[in-house]
Amino acid sequence: MPEKKARYIVILGSMMSGLGKGILSASIGRLLQSDGYSVAPIKFDGYLNVDCGTMNPLRHGEVFVLDDGTECDMDFGTYERFLNIGLSGTSSITGGKLFKKIIEKERSGGYLGRDVQIVPHLTNEIKAWIRKVGEETKADFVMIEVGGTVGDLENSYFIEAMRQMGQEERENMLFVQLTYVPSLSKGELKTKPTQHANRLITSLGITPKLIVCRGDEKLSKEAREKISMFCNVLPEDVFDDPLVPTIYELPLVLEKQNFSHRLLSHLSLKPRNGDMRAWTNLVSKIKSPKNELRIAITGKYTAVKDAYVSIEEALVHSAAASNTLVKAEFVDTERLERTDVKPHELLRGYDGIIVPGGFGSRGVEGKIMAINYARKNSLPFLGLCLGLQLCVVEYARNVAKMEGAHSTEMDKATPFPVIDLLPEQKSIKEKGATMRLGAWDCQLVKGTKAHDAYGCEKISERHRHRLEVNDEFVSRLEEAGLIISGRSPDGKIVEMVEWKDGWGVATQAHPELKSRLEMPAPLFLAFVKACLKRQKEKTSQ
Ligand code: GLN
Repeated sequence: MPEKKARYIVILGSMMSGLGKGILSASIGRLLQSDGYSVAPIKFDGYLNVDCGTMNPLRHGEVFVLDDGTECDMDFGTYERFLNIGLSGTSSITGGKLFKKIIEKERSGGYLGRDVQIVPHLTNEIKAWIRKVGEETKADFVMIEVGGTVGDLENSYFIEAMRQMGQEERENMLFVQLTYVPSLSKGELKTKPTQHANRLITSLGITPKLIVCRGDEKLSKEAREKISMFCNVLPEDVFDDPLVPTIYELPLVLEKQNFSHRLLSHLSLKPRNGDMRAWTNLVSKIKSPKNELRIAITGKYTAVKDAYVSIEEALVHSAAASNTLVKAEFVDTERLERTDVKPHELLRGYDGIIVPGGFGSRGVEGKIMAINYARKNSLPFLGLCLGLQLCVVEYARNVAKMEGAHSTEMDKATPFPVIDLLPEQKSIKEKGATMRLGAWDCQLVKGTKAHDAYGCEKISERHRHRLEVNDEFVSRLEEAGLIISGRSPDGKIVEMVEWKDGWGVATQAHPELKSRLEMPAPLFLAFVKACLKRQKEKTSQ
């Protein structure tokens, strides 16, 4: 048997950032999957951080975590949500990782006698990395999304590596250009910026075979022909990437334009009659829901669109599965802390509350007030990571009568440190990749809401935290009525807690990170169902 060889697809962003390269890459991958091919996505990020773990969501959007504990760019979430596969850290290449590798190799004598250069040493490292992913995953396609825009300094050496690889791989490799086609007034589409952007790419020695055009208007026949003519592609290889009501519609929009057939034909491959029926069905459920819910997310990064993207998407997945439109609205908990604002003024009208993960003390008292409001009003509540920790603090203070109880993250001198650092965290000084990260198992207690949601006893979810419920106080909390519904298999870490009455469940994990359109996170689905149930009961009262 000849050894199976991966094909490589490189997605380049041109002209400007923010065109949705991640969503395009994920959509292309999804289409190839539906054609019966396996895909392994890779993303290159040019920053010199080794990973995203030390970045502020305010600047960079959410930090996504993989099973193996890699902290990465939120695009990895998009890949997993679209492709319904779990990725490993090798799929994330950063400038920081590359330079670290090269410098460590140089220090250990790996290049003795030579000066170490961007070409060939760094570019060889990149090519070897990508080919290794192809070999290890045995994927039919390795899809490489190049972060940033062509012309940036940060990704220039990576693009050079792609050029070299294109030369070596020849018909096994294909480049896709994503561009923007503005319109000055209605119907007046401008293709010149795309032509210039294409010229910039070809000046680097790369010829894109497919051009995908974002725009505010539908791509006209004339614009398509102009792009075809000036950018050396066939008109049928110019694609419209319009604004879609849901990102999950993009694969379908591209497929209507024969995208995967065109892509495969450039690589001398045949389509294998893709079946997007299940996906189409879910998209139509998102677009024409039968119910509507308003969910409050109490966050501190509320001004940043991408800070809680996995939570929002997890709600979309559960909403699609229950034919519901979930309107997620951010509530600034610092407002709740103001003495002139009563919790019910901000929170009434919502069908459920999510308290997401977070760090630091800003807005924390407001979050505790929101949890208290949910518990007292039997409003479904889902606590995620910090959400669990604050749920425990609220219960300790208001039910178990531990006045002043807190997490030592916010109050080192609290008389009741119900949340404290994990023992192994106490001696850690380094900041990068030192939290309790990645997938950890949890044993659920039968008969609890958490167990009902998952339908099994042993689960695995992703984590990113330094603190935990302090075991010293657990029996007192249990006596007061808090249910511990899940623990780590060795029994040491409280992973899940819940209230006896109403639907209030909190987890030390981040189940939103494993939610996918075709496989919603069980806890989110149970939460959405609880919200729907309560809404129905309220309206029939
Ligand atoms: N700050 C808390 C901790 O480190 C919660 C972290 C989180 O919500 N991801 O444990």
